[in-house]
Amino acid sequence: MRPPRRFYIETWGCQMNELDSQRMAGQLMQQGILPTREPEEADVILLNSCSVREKAEQKVYSRLGEYRLLKRRNAGLLIGLCGCVAQQEGERALERVPDLDFVLGPARVGELSQVVTRRRGGERVVATGFPESRQYDIDAVSRHGEYKGMVTLIEGCDKSCTFCIVPRTRGPERSRPLAEVLAEVRHLLDYGFQEIELLGQTVNHWREPGGDLDFADLLEAVATLPGVRRLRFITSYPRDFTPRMVEKIGRHENICPYLHLPVQSGADGVLRRMGRGYTRARYVDLVAQLRAARPDLALSTDLIVGFPGESEDDFRQTLDLVEEIRFATIFAFKYSPRPGTAAPRLDGQVDSEVAGERLQRLFALQEKIQKEINLDLVGKEYDVVVTGWGREPGMQMGRTPCHRIVHFATGAEPAELGSVTRVRIGGALAHSLRAERLSA
Ligand code: SAM
Repeated sequence: MRPPRRFYIETWGCQMNELDSQRMAGQLMQQGILPTREPEEADVILLNSCSVREKAEQKVYSRLGEYRLLKRRNAGLLIGLCGCVAQQEGERALERVPDLDFVLGPARVGELSQVVTRRRGGERVVATGFPESRQYDIDAVSRHGEYKGMVTLIEGCDKSCTFCIVPRTRGPERSRPLAEVLAEVRHLLDYGFQEIELLGQTVNHWREPGGDLDFADLLEAVATLPGVRRLRFITSYPRDFTPRMVEKIGRHENICPYLHLPVQSGADGVLRRMGRGYTRARYVDLVAQLRAARPDLALSTDLIVGFPGESEDDFRQTLDLVEEIRFATIFAFKYSPRPGTAAPRLDGQVDSEVAGERLQRLFALQEKIQKEINLDLVGKEYDVVVTGWGREPGMQMGRTPCHRIVHFATGAEPAELGSVTRVRIGGALAHSLRAERLSA
């Protein structure tokens, strides 16, 4: 088998998967294997999968079917299934896809180099499960082309939401020690990153291992590091917010006025059956506290429609909550039954067509609200972090501190990726803003 020289990674799912892909790319690059945008050119193909909904899982299998055909042209091609489907399927994936070379679960990402070497030695490897000690080399992360530096705070999840497969695929919760987190943030600042994003399934449930510090202390420690211009964190769990955390968000201006706070439903009965551990009133109250601390806060959320037992009246309560809160963005999904979770056994499974129709009503309402919110931003000035090129020539894209996408003309000198430039908003659509660049 000739040594692989190019790799191609396809990534689905959440920010954690994005960072895992950067970690896998970094390890391959340390072995002298370079990235390619063309799977046909690759000697290693990695599918970094998501299993939160069934559709995502099906997609990864159909992609594996396509990529295995490339082995006819390149006998040395290695194909690895990574991410949450890898953890969920394990050995079964090797049986189902005969040309699959290895399976690598999310907690084993740091072992990719060894797995590739073992495969080259002839072994079809299944590296899954949640070992006590894990490899995490902050030098082996490829952040090329990224405008923000992502840092894992907490791995896994100990919640037991009845719809969610994540605790099974990402394992029990493990917080990283503060010193390790700060060292990685400093490392990113040394490389010139101005925006830092802290990651965890329930990021605000972080605790210093064996100590007393909580997420409020961590926010304080990171926000006060010299050079952190923008600080974000995702995903916050509503029940885990404390008044001290709210106070830190209000106090530190470099903590971005944007928060992703999944509510899932506006109906208490549904929230109870989901096992979320908060009520609608408690969520609304938390939003009020956050907005009092930070009046410019833009909120986004996740919503599930068609959860078992969701009645038309329950769904209307979700619409009503969306009207009441006025989220800047929503991520809404039809409920998808997942293996090993409790919700598929609940009474009152909702017909898929009914759920689909509810989802459309929800999107239509949000579209209207989002457009109104965005129109209110016309005339305002923002510092945007430059995230890339626009589709039209001469246009670039950026993100406001409140995470909205802005398209602006480059002007005489294009703005550097990851740098900050000032713009004035000139036009608004539901999903993006157009602006004029003020500083060149
Ligand atoms: N840990 C976060 C939380 O619970 O707030 C988010 C976890 S998940 C990666 C992201 C989103 O996917 C969830 O907030 C939920 O809206 C959606 N999701 C998870 N399981 C789902 C399912 N079985 N069907 C539909 N959507 C689901």
